[in-house]
Amino acid sequence: MRGKVAPTCRNLTTSRRIATATLDAPGLASDVPPPSISHRKDAIKHAKPFSAFLTDSFDRQHDYLRISITERCNLRCLYCMPEEGVPLSPPAHLLTTPEIFYLASLFVSQGVTKIRLTGGEPTVRHDIVPLMQSIGTLRPKGLHELALTTNGISLHRKLDSMVEAGLTGVNLSLDTLDPFQFQIMTRRNGFDAVMRSIDRILEMKTLGADIKLKVNCVVMRGMNEREIIPFVEMGRDKDIEVRFIEYMPFGGNKWTQGKMISFQEMLDIIRSKYPELRSVRGHRNDTSKTYEVPGFVGKVGFITSMTNDFCGTCNRLRITGDGNLKVCLHGNAEVSLRDLLRKDNNGDPIDQAAFERIKQIEMDRREGRLSDETILGWGQREQELLQVIGAAVKRKAEKHADMGDLEKLENRPMILIGG
Ligand code: SAM
Ligand code: SF4
Ligand code: SF4
Repeated sequence: MRGKVAPTCRNLTTSRRIATATLDAPGLASDVPPPSISHRKDAIKHAKPFSAFLTDSFDRQHDYLRISITERCNLRCLYCMPEEGVPLSPPAHLLTTPEIFYLASLFVSQGVTKIRLTGGEPTVRHDIVPLMQSIGTLRPKGLHELALTTNGISLHRKLDSMVEAGLTGVNLSLDTLDPFQFQIMTRRNGFDAVMRSIDRILEMKTLGADIKLKVNCVVMRGMNEREIIPFVEMGRDKDIEVRFIEYMPFGGNKWTQGKMISFQEMLDIIRSKYPELRSVRGHRNDTSKTYEVPGFVGKVGFITSMTNDFCGTCNRLRITGDGNLKVCLHGNAEVSLRDLLRKDNNGDPIDQAAFERIKQIEMDRREGRLSDETILGWGQREQELLQVIGAAVKRKAEKHADMGDLEKLENRPMILIGG
């Protein structure tokens, strides 16, 4: 008769975290009652140190994960992808919904508190709402924020069910308030649909929905710098934060320094009309520097990756649509989590049925019905994944290269990274 199998993991904290990740997948989780105040106090008292796997060699703790859930998009923005498009991965190379959910729960078990779904355009993934619903179930496990970066074209159709699924924030990309200019910058139509999405979010907010809305606007010289003031003025009576992003170089986007408008230049443009523009204290891990015009409801932010990097407080990791962990947006180091994940499924994509089968094996092993020697199971696989993740995070550079070197760096086009 086989006895219970002792944990194979090298450290017990890790082993406990692993148990949380696998067994609490939907279908296996017991109902978790809301924690009482004394429970919460107890939890704070006994809080574990932040996962070593997600802490890099500069002591940065990565509690924010961006997952790209598709490589496809319904727009073709000039700054994001080459005109001829990008070669897409074969469907079998892309992460399935159970795989995305599995990785999300693994990262949450290690201390990730915020997940952002991005792409490509995440709303074109047909099962984005069920995916959000399942990731939403990670809230009792420590997920605080579930956010989306989207171009807003089809968001208005799915927004209500997303909010029900636990969506807490939307970063909506819009680079112009002029429908003709929209067509030039995105090489497609759709301005009215984007505005419909913005209006619906604002309407839901007035009805009590707790959704943070930020509008992301990439500023390119000769293209849309004259839109800076109208965007700032959107915030006069709308509760929106408009964030101006310095144009960054990525594979195939024909970046030149001359086309980039710096943070300082943007400030000068705004101050020429609103000299009273003033800076507002932000959160430690904010990527943007926040400002306000006194009397305006909205805020103005700047993402200054090129002239004033914020790498020192970086807390972000990315998973690409084809399942690579990318520890830095401006670094081309990637490791495949997908290949490791699929080892127990002969290298094939893990669909729901395969996911249930593997879970059952793991349950049997935990119950002592199978031994470690005969079946590898997910406990072992998770340990391997965490080792790979931990090693990649430890290799993360302190900061990105200088502008000149970044321009030459071979990197994916932004559409295949997920911003
Ligand atoms: N399709 C979604 C969207 O547009 O919001 C999500 C993916 S998109 C790649 C994520 C963000 O990256 C967008 O806010 C977009 O403006 C930004 N982005 C893309 N290329 C960029 C570039 N070259 N420089 C700065 N930001 C860029
Ligand atoms: Fe698509 Fe977003 Fe890239 Fe525009 S920025 S092409 S919407 S992925
Ligand atoms: Fe983080 Fe890399 Fe971006 Fe710097 S460049 S903020 S290290 S992701």
